[in-house]
Parts: sequence; structure tokens; C-alpha cells
Amino acid sequence: MASRRKFLKLSTLTTALFAVNKNKAVNLIQTDSKTIKPIVISTWRFGIEANAEAWNILKKGGRALDAVEAGVKIPEGDANERSVGLGGRPDRDGRVTLDACIMDENMNIGSVACLEHIVHPISVARAVMEKTPHVMLTGEGALQFALAQGFKKENLLTPESDKEWKEWLKESKYKPVVNIENHDTIGMVALDKNGNLSGACTTSGMAFKMHGRVGDSPIIGAGLYVDNEVGAATATGHGEEVIRIAGCHTVIEFMRQGFSPEEACKKAVERIISSAKKRNKALSELQIGFIAINKNGEHGAYCLQKGFNYAVYSPEIKNELHNAKSLY
Ligand code: ASP
Repeated sequence: MASRRKFLKLSTLTTALFAVNKNKAVNLIQTDSKTIKPIVISTWRFGIEANAEAWNILKKGGRALDAVEAGVKIPEGDANERSVGLGGRPDRDGRVTLDACIMDENMNIGSVACLEHIVHPISVARAVMEKTPHVMLTGEGALQFALAQGFKKENLLTPESDKEWKEWLKESKYKPVVNIENHDTIGMVALDKNGNLSGACTTSGMAFKMHGRVGDSPIIGAGLYVDNEVGAATATGHGEEVIRIAGCHTVIEFMRQGFSPEEACKKAVERIISSAKKRNKALSELQIGFIAINKNGEHGAYCLQKGFNYAVYSPEIKNELHNAKSLY
């Protein structure tokens, strides 16, 4: 009975796929020998070092979840990366507050938002996933949990960030700049040798944001989403816009309909544009980038403005930076 139900479910899904997009259906049900795996992709230039770390795990047949966590910890721990973890730019009160989330192949999720004093929020997010009955902890509660788990309390505000913040205070004008790095997220998604997907996403968010502001990056469905039958996606850019359209979940749903990762990312960007137009939001002031892989190990990306790139590491592509296509 169970197997008949499964068969019916699968054939319904297959039919639906072909009905939606005859020529573009991807093999969502079963991967075959053509599947590209392992593969890991991540946002921006710092994705290169992050991918290299993730690859060390993937190449040995390791789990995608372990790979993405280890990968994004590289920029988190690098004080020279000014939009993630240690050295991240502070909010307008001079406090470095971090957002991160993680998701595995079994729909396990963990997230922290507005977390201070911890260099690796992604590992705290994983601990939330694995050691609590909850999926998200914020602010003081997240810090209290992290300390109880043995994470060390540290000062994340580097002299460079402190100087920039004091400079910013003179005018106190909140203005995220497109492609200028006063914000950026490391988002990473991977498919491992066993055909399982996972993703991780971590950021200090928009520089000089209001204290308590939470972006898309710790929100499952917005900054990150993984569906082990379909694919995985993550986002960077103006978080408020990504949240509004449940960005990464949207990308996954387009892939489920049979669109390629690049087409799915493009359609999500188009949705952001129509949402922005409804509110007369100037598109020139916005940047959004999505990256995605599907269950077959195909990858793609799309962004609003030119200038977004992402790093790809697979058996064929040995850690290269790719320019995402853009609508403008
Ligand atoms: N998405 C991040 C946020 O809104 C920032 C970025 O990726 O540029 O916090």
C-alpha cells in the first residue's frame, strides 16, 4: 500500500512537472550517473576560500551539512571580511549583531538572529537545530544559549569597524550601497556524494542598521531553503526585499516546476522587481542575488544589478568565480 501510494505520488509529481514546463523538466525523483556531485556554491568572492574548506569535506564523501558549516566559518572568522562574523560592521549603536541559519536534507533547521559576541553564529544555529526543541533563538536568549553550549564570548568590533562607525555617526545616514561592501552575506549550498543537500547562510547584515533589525539571512525560506527532492538556494542583498517574497523558497518552488537553477533565480528576481514597483521603491538602490543548485547538481544564479558573483566548486569546475547574469 505504502509503495503504491509512493508510486502514485511520484507519477503525479512527474506529470505535473511535464505539464508545467515540458522541455525544462529536471529529474527530481531520481538522480542518475549524470548527476554532478559533489558540488558546492557560495556567494561573493569570499566564497572561494569558503568553498575550498567545504570541498575538503565533500571530496572525502562527507556530509553536505558539515561542509556548509565548515565553509561559511572561514569568512565568519576572518576579521578582514567586513560583512560577516568577526569584524562585521556594527549597527547604529556600535553593536555587531549577527544573523545565521542552517538547513539539512531532512528539513532540520536552526537559526540565530541578532546574536552578539560569538564569532561563529552558524555553529550556534546548528546547535539550536540539534540540541533544542526550537528552530530560532534571538538576541540575549541566543547568546545565553551559545555560552551554555561552551561558545566563547568575544569582542567582534575591530578597530577598523569602530573607526568607520564613529565616522558614520557624524552624518548618521542609513544608506546601504549597491555592490559596495557595506553589507553582504556568505550563503552556501552543497550537494554531497550521497546526493543530499544542505545550506548555510551568515551575515552581520546591513551596516548601521537599527539595533534589533533582522534581515533575510536567518529566516528559513527567505535567505536560505533546502528541499532534498528539488534543490537548495540562498540569497544576498537587501534582506527586506528578499523576506517580502520568501525569496529562497520561491526559487525552490520554481525549480520544482521544472525551471533550471538560473531560470528559477531569475524568476525570483523578477518577483522582487514587481514587489518593489508596487511600492514605488527605486530599483537602482537595490541589489539582490540568488544562487541555487538542483538535485542533479546543476547550478545557477541571478541578480538585480550587475556586479554579483558566486564561487563554484565541483568535479569539473575547480573553484571558480562566476558572474551572475543580471536584469539590469
Ligand atoms: N541580506 C543581508 C541582510 O539583509 C545583507 C546582504 O547580503 O547584503 O542582512
